Amino acid sequence: MSDIEEHRKKIEEITLEMIKLLKTRTDIAKQIGDAKASLGMTVTDEEREDALRKQVTKLCKEIDLDQSTALKFLNFLFNESVKVQSDNKETHLSIFLKAKALEEEGKKIIHLEVGEPDFKPPKEVKTALAEVYDKGYGKYGSPKGITELRKALAEQKGCKFENVMVCPGARFAVYLAINTLLNTGDEIIVIEPAWPAYKDCALNAGIKVRTIKTTLETKWEPSIDQINNAINENTKMIVLNYPNNPTGKILHIELVESIMETAKKHDLYVLSDEIYSEYALSFFPTQSNDLTGVDLHSILKWRYEKSITTQSFSKSKAMTGYRIGYAIAEPSIIEKMSKLQALSLTNVSEPIQYVALQAFKADTSQNTKIIKSRLEALVKIARDIGLEFIEPDGAMYLFAKTKYKNFDATKFSEKLLEHGVAIAPGEGFGDYKEFFRITAIDGTKLKEGMIILDTVLKESYE
Ligand code: PMP
Repeated sequence: MSDIEEHRKKIEEITLEMIKLLKTRTDIAKQIGDAKASLGMTVTDEEREDALRKQVTKLCKEIDLDQSTALKFLNFLFNESVKVQSDNKETHLSIFLKAKALEEEGKKIIHLEVGEPDFKPPKEVKTALAEVYDKGYGKYGSPKGITELRKALAEQKGCKFENVMVCPGARFAVYLAINTLLNTGDEIIVIEPAWPAYKDCALNAGIKVRTIKTTLETKWEPSIDQINNAINENTKMIVLNYPNNPTGKILHIELVESIMETAKKHDLYVLSDEIYSEYALSFFPTQSNDLTGVDLHSILKWRYEKSITTQSFSKSKAMTGYRIGYAIAEPSIIEKMSKLQALSLTNVSEPIQYVALQAFKADTSQNTKIIKSRLEALVKIARDIGLEFIEPDGAMYLFAKTKYKNFDATKFSEKLLEHGVAIAPGEGFGDYKEFFRITAIDGTKLKEGMIILDTVLKESYE
């Protein structure tokens, strides 16, 4: 056998051996996952991971192996463990699907779990839908979106149209940013509680998630120390989402300032998901009733070249099913993201972009007022029935727990669903098994749902 053939054989043997070891490792990870689930432990134990990371770094020095390759490989292994251990997590989506199935059986369900406004899009949308055919929109187009829409969005956001890219929803914009700007083995920081897609997107792309746990006691604020401690040489991005889903929190400007400084110092991308920016209660002008353009909190004002802002028509214009949103970033970032968008879906539906442009021109400040009053109503009822929470500054949810010790929100959500009310269990947003999220819906339904919630709660725990 020639030398090369001999080496190839060896490589094959080693690779097959590695695959077998991966199988053994995955099986053990699954067993650990089952044990953690029965003990109510969280999937990721970052202290344990850090300890192993240190051992790997030490080993790399001893055997003279490139550390960054080894750490990327280690991150891959961590991610595989997280994936096999996270199978049966109950999220707002899984509860929603169960609720839908019950409705199909004829049961009435009050939906307090869904993340969408229950009012209609502006009437301009109806007119636009009727005229779009004759307007001739409906061809293939630029993967970055139609120029008219990009220009209109850029003007409102105070940037150039080259900075704007239209996407089929903010979810896809998040997906594009994570998948094009990060590489396998890189790390991303997610501040929890968080909308689950950031973590899921990263996991799917082989990117290691570093979570920062915030608490009700510290008003859902991350500390700069927590962020600094999570940063290492593989860290490439930090995700911000304020007003936050699920807590409704908006960070103080000073804290955002420090986070931006930290990001700059470590050359991190900042992915700021601002889809609830029009539902930002603490920024309501106090003297005037003019609620348009209430967008004082966008990270765009830092003009940081490694920031990506994601936005949507889903919440502000009540257009969830139209699937339209956008991203704002430096043209070089937009270029990368639009290449993946072109590759995966050619372009966003032109007719829907036209409709979105008309919706964009519509005055939807009324929606902001509606959400504000609903949130206020929700806060009042929640206080009356003794739930514990921080009053939301914005978005359209309340993230609460109860006074009962050992309260399990996942089990409670399932029980409550049997009584016709769907809520989103906290474990879908991170390590928050004792919390649940309630959406601020219309008054009568909300009241009815909260009375049932209170009754079931008392029956179960008193
Ligand atoms: N970001 C956050 C924080 C969300 O809560 C949601 C939807 N619930 C999205 C993004 C997705 O928005 P879109 O419908 O534009 O994809």
